[in-house]
Amino acid sequence: VEGVQREFDYFALSLQWPGTICHRTRHCCSSNGCCRGSNSPTEFTIHGLWPDYNDGTWPSCCFRSQFDVKEISTLMDALEKYWPSLYCSKSSTCFSGKGLFWAHEWEKHGTCSFPVIRDEYSYFLTTLNVYFKYNVTKILNEAGYVPSNSERYPLGGIVSAIENSFRATPEVVCSKDSVEEIRLCFYKDFKPRNCLASKTSCPKYVSLPAYVALGSNESETDIE
Ligand code: 5GP
Ligand code: 5GP
Repeated sequence: VEGVQREFDYFALSLQWPGTICHRTRHCCSSNGCCRGSNSPTEFTIHGLWPDYNDGTWPSCCFRSQFDVKEISTLMDALEKYWPSLYCSKSSTCFSGKGLFWAHEWEKHGTCSFPVIRDEYSYFLTTLNVYFKYNVTKILNEAGYVPSNSERYPLGGIVSAIENSFRATPEVVCSKDSVEEIRLCFYKDFKPRNCLASKTSCPKYVSLPAYVALGSNESETDIE
């Protein structure tokens, strides 16, 4: 049996900020992913639900379960809206070669959430439900942290705003000085817990870039 690994300790819900990613990747290149046009997301969207260990490492590709898009057909509308792929290239997966972003997340991370989550459908449904329960975009906007291409916000203020509402400390990931991801952490019963107080890749002041659509005659570049 491949990839047998000890049971994980906690979950991280990893959320991505389209305003940051879409400064690099502006193609509208797959049916479920779009950094251009009217359906480009203006809220944090889902990157994945990740089982983690308390020592800062994590399991991956835990049991051979090839992603099957048919299993999640009833979730498709929500997944396309809240869990889009913002990159053009197909992702490498553990078991089925190159595939959708969803296939990558299920095979790499989802298969390691056993025994809390035992199948593909539950992985996606559970992730959507947790995502809907905590609206990070709204939490930040209400604290005055609105998308802007000129403002810089104190990282500590962003973290505090989330702590005040979520009651646990998130992890913030930056690309240069832009917020790229915010991760919320959970015990196995999905009660909030602190993420590991380790590695933040962010400077003291960060930006939350607004999504800027390209004009139709501007050239598309994808520098991911
Ligand atoms: P990066 O090096 O870009 O932060 O992460 C690359 C990949 O490593 C991520 O897409 C994710 O699959 C995995 N990864 C990074 N950090 C974590 C983490 O804290 N927990 C888990 N489970 N995976 C992570
Ligand atoms: P990770 O291993 O970090 O969980 O997943 C990242 C992989 O998924 C990379 O191979 C990346 O190219 C691919 N990918 C496809 N769409 C997206 C997206 O919207 N966001 C991120 N972070 N990665 C994506």
